[in-house]
Amino acid sequence: MQNGPVTNELLPVSAAIEGGVLSVGGAPLPRLAEEHGTPLVVYCERTIREAARAYREAAPDALLVYGTKAFPNVAILRLLAEEGFGADVSSGGELELARRAGIPGERIVVHGNNKGDDELAAAARLGALVAVDALDEIERAVAAGVRRALVRVTPGIEADTHEAIRTAHHGSKFGLPPHDAIAAIGALRDAGVDVEGVHVHIGSQLLHLRAAGMTVEWLALFSARCRAELDWTPRTIDLGGGLGVAHVPDEAPPSIAEFVAAVSGELARAWALERLEPPRLVLEPGRSLVGRAGVTVYRVGSIKRASEATTYVAVDGGLSDNPRPALYGARYAALLANRADEEPGEAYAVAGRHCESGDLLIERVPLPEPRRGDLLAIPATGAYTLAMGSNYNAVPRPAAVLVADGAARTIRRRETMDDLLALEQG
Ligand code: PLP
Repeated sequence: MQNGPVTNELLPVSAAIEGGVLSVGGAPLPRLAEEHGTPLVVYCERTIREAARAYREAAPDALLVYGTKAFPNVAILRLLAEEGFGADVSSGGELELARRAGIPGERIVVHGNNKGDDELAAAARLGALVAVDALDEIERAVAAGVRRALVRVTPGIEADTHEAIRTAHHGSKFGLPPHDAIAAIGALRDAGVDVEGVHVHIGSQLLHLRAAGMTVEWLALFSARCRAELDWTPRTIDLGGGLGVAHVPDEAPPSIAEFVAAVSGELARAWALERLEPPRLVLEPGRSLVGRAGVTVYRVGSIKRASEATTYVAVDGGLSDNPRPALYGARYAALLANRADEEPGEAYAVAGRHCESGDLLIERVPLPEPRRGDLLAIPATGAYTLAMGSNYNAVPRPAAVLVADGAARTIRRRETMDDLLALEQG
């Protein structure tokens, strides 16, 4: 698939090109590459704040929590807390980051299909809301002292996204089928736990509103069933995250305002139809807060014509900082950050540096003829990239900086060889 040239919608809102140089937040990327090295993930503060404010404006009464897994980072959690966000966490590690960022327990939702007893106890100590995900979690949650819960239910809706990031279909490893969810709500309440409501996350990188609307409608029917069977209705409806971002020009997600208006409008309509008390809404956006804000800057190394059809441009990162192309066939666009005003010519394959043929960041992207030492920028890489990175081939993971007003602040330092060697024994 041929990626088109980079459009403004793929770049952070503060991106600008002057004299052929791409800058983000007033900071030229070649300067940042010089000062911080490459690969480097550059986050635009304004893009994150604008996205957070769009959620806040569209859903002023909702509890908004950042889907921390998109990029677990204390500075980003703090920034979002300033915008009124809490955190959705899915491990003890993410919970600890949220705690370090000063997020209070009442604004933390704890997820996970296999929570450890220690993770349940940590959630209970903070007074966080625990999304119960399995029948055998109930006893352990009660023993750990959990007092506030949601029950995660799987409505059996197939979201129109990659199967690896689809989560509410029949047979999903997450959540409970409706019958078991009702049993879980009953058992938790019998044990004295305040079941505040239900949780659904239908999938990630959603580009259409249909599945979200259907899910809300389904939840109203499920809530009516809970009323009939348990004499209980949810006070809270947590719809998870899911809104997609554009990584290539032909992806056109709804805006945050459109997405929230669609789900909250459907919530009001479907709840009224079932004569249910209007619930509190919880939203857990991850990608739509930080995805567009991040640009990864790589240094171009070897350039190789492998066949009549393919010329590889190899960069100094890849699988270790962004496994999404290898995992889900994710597509990206790219541009040369130091020659951004030059017309693209031939299409190139952007290869990572790892010993894996699948380490291909982009199959085909038109670029001005790249040279060793150029800076290749891949936009829309703020979510599920570094967060899913690894040390494959003993490659240290890159740094991340947050930029605003021409200044860059390191929010995650570059790993060193010493960091890797520190784990070795014997
Ligand atoms: N909430 C839950 C339970 C999730 O599993 C996820 C992502 O997988 C999110 C929120 C964040 O989703 P997204 O980044 O698509 O907004």
